[in-house]
Amino acid sequence: MHPINLYNTLTRSAENLSPMDGQRLRFYCCGPTVYGRAHVGNFRTFVMQDVFRRVVEAAGMETLHVRNVTNVDDKTIRGSIAAGQSLEEFTEYWTRLLHVDCEALSILEPHEEPSAIAHVPEQIELIGQLMEKGLAYQSDNGSIYYRIAAFEEYGKLCHLNKSDVRHNADQRLNTADEYDKENASDFALWKTWREEDGDNAWDSPWGRGRPGWHIECSAMSMKYLGESFDMHSGGVDLIFPHHENEIAQSEGATGKTFARHWFHVAHLKVEGEKMSKSLGNLYTVDDIVSWGFEPNDLRYSLLAGHYRQPLNFTKDSLNACRSARRRLGQFADLLPVGLEPTPGFSVFAPVLDALLDDLNTPKALGLLHSISQDVAADLKAGKSEPDEMVAIASGFHNALLAFGIEVPQADAGGEEAPDGIKDLAEQRSAARAAKDWTEADRLRDELSKAGWEMRDQADGYELTKL
Ligand code: AMP
Ligand code: ZN
Repeated sequence: MHPINLYNTLTRSAENLSPMDGQRLRFYCCGPTVYGRAHVGNFRTFVMQDVFRRVVEAAGMETLHVRNVTNVDDKTIRGSIAAGQSLEEFTEYWTRLLHVDCEALSILEPHEEPSAIAHVPEQIELIGQLMEKGLAYQSDNGSIYYRIAAFEEYGKLCHLNKSDVRHNADQRLNTADEYDKENASDFALWKTWREEDGDNAWDSPWGRGRPGWHIECSAMSMKYLGESFDMHSGGVDLIFPHHENEIAQSEGATGKTFARHWFHVAHLKVEGEKMSKSLGNLYTVDDIVSWGFEPNDLRYSLLAGHYRQPLNFTKDSLNACRSARRRLGQFADLLPVGLEPTPGFSVFAPVLDALLDDLNTPKALGLLHSISQDVAADLKAGKSEPDEMVAIASGFHNALLAFGIEVPQADAGGEEAPDGIKDLAEQRSAARAAKDWTEADRLRDELSKAGWEMRDQADGYELTKL
């Protein structure tokens, strides 16, 4: 068992992480709000969490992975009422599509996938504990708020002090029903029923209403992972207020450290802006497939940058990643087939080392390619022994598994392109010769939609069936 070195948002430094109970590394990922199709920005975070799990397992640790589904909030309630469906029906539909996308992207299923609707009693119980401890209070309208002035360490994750937090909250305070809070930055644990909630209300000791968003993650993570566990994660936008509030709720109630390690993934951007539903610049896995790519090209591209740096999403990078996967596929074709893989990374050990060093996926992918090229050169020169090949093929297989990347099977090249495709390729060649790059790109996209890739070469081009 080898610990992973991972940057911890709480301490602002990279630290070794291994199971605190010596058995299973227990971790929680804030899952999606299920009111629409998840976008590829969400999947940057989910894919990185998946790589974290795969790498930890490759290093010999067992895991217990919990990822929730947020199905009680303003957006899901509004969506279900607009669709004329119950909240369960509406959110189950989007959860099913989430699973389809996760499978397409080779994201492992979490061991537990709890949803807020199914855990209202646990949330009510936790709010009750906070009320007993004086960390929560009921306002005149019946809602329950967390009293952040009573939690000494509020702000420790986002590294803000309480007066900064209060200043931010004062600026955001604009809804009438929030004016009865003791303090602008106090946040809702239980929201009393309002007309726009429709039938979506539960009984509680404080009247009919529904839980706030933050309390679900505290209640569900502690139910499945215990009061203290190893790691908690999400995209960077969740650091404040969501994760800060989770710490206040959980540590306020138990008096124990909640998560030891906090892992946050920087945003996927489109032309410098965060990809998000509200900005209308989001793409889904289906969009990427309709452009002629495989979901695994997308997965590869999401790993091409380090998770702590924002990553720009472009079609060019998808193209480059498709070619990179194809090169790995060509290497795989050189390896013996039908062998039962053995454990270990063999000559690919540096790939695992780079992944264990703060999930350095760009470095690890670079090593995967460079080591493959060295092995291919040795093979072609007849330098490799058959015995070695079993370990090398297993090492390559295990490295791919750690990334969750699949490579294309035996080269599909050789198939002759039909005349229509050849015409398009000729037109693109002519556009390139005339330096009409827009037309050349358009024709390349058209070819890829038709299932063909045109690779430019010094003395012409090559057409390959995708
Ligand atoms: P949501 O469905 O908005 O609750 O988001 C689900 C997960 O996706 C959370 O961990 C978010 O932090 C993350 N997320 C949202 N937008 C992006 C983005 N553009 N890039 C990376 N992660 C994101
Ligand atoms: Zn959460």
